[in-house]
Amino acid sequence: MLQNLFEINNRLFKICLIGDGGTGKSSIVERFLGKGFSIGYNLTIGTNICTHTATVEDREIKFQIWDLAGQQRFEFVRKTFYRGSQAVMMVFDLTRPETLKNLREWKQEVLKNVGHSVPFPVVLLGNKCDLQQKIVITQEEITKFRNELRIDFLCDVPFLLTSALSGMNVHEAFEILGYQLLQHRQIATPTKVVTTS
Ligand code: GDP
Repeated sequence: MLQNLFEINNRLFKICLIGDGGTGKSSIVERFLGKGFSIGYNLTIGTNICTHTATVEDREIKFQIWDLAGQQRFEFVRKTFYRGSQAVMMVFDLTRPETLKNLREWKQEVLKNVGHSVPFPVVLLGNKCDLQQKIVITQEEITKFRNELRIDFLCDVPFLLTSALSGMNVHEAFEILGYQLLQHRQIATPTKVVTTS
């Protein structure tokens, strides 16, 4: 019984979705939850929290997803929302270059709140890839930012082109983050207790 409880807790991961308002964070979560996609701009107010189970490497893991408000006026509450988070998903809008630029500020906020002495799983998403004609961000800019993230978070940062509209790579993004979380936990939690006599 106790072991079961441990297993359950051990596979519940708090992850935060961050990025400017309007980049598609809520739509990505909705798509992941399987609610489909709703057209229309719905300004994120406060924070949405939901849980969803996914299978990663034949193992079930539960994500507790915190969709942080991208609006400056909610900055004062963010500290609480980052507390205890185990990974972040950074989202920018491929059609709005400033949303990638602004992720540098988001990055500083994460570093300030989660610390940076151990590897911290991060996945970077360039959303709205269905709007191909409007994509203005170059691969070089993305690579440059990924390299910065790798140095700051002490681990490789996968990048995916996503579309909450078509669903492209949305499940994959969570799977990759889940995979990283499991790997990271294996490093953090020794599977064997070594005793010396
Ligand atoms: P949030 O503020 O970051 O949570 O962004 P929302 O999820 O509310 O999305 C902002 C707007 O972008 C809405 O009008 C969505 O319908 C639209 N949107 C979100 N994701 C996509 C996408 O992948 N493709 C397109 N074309 N529109 C999207």
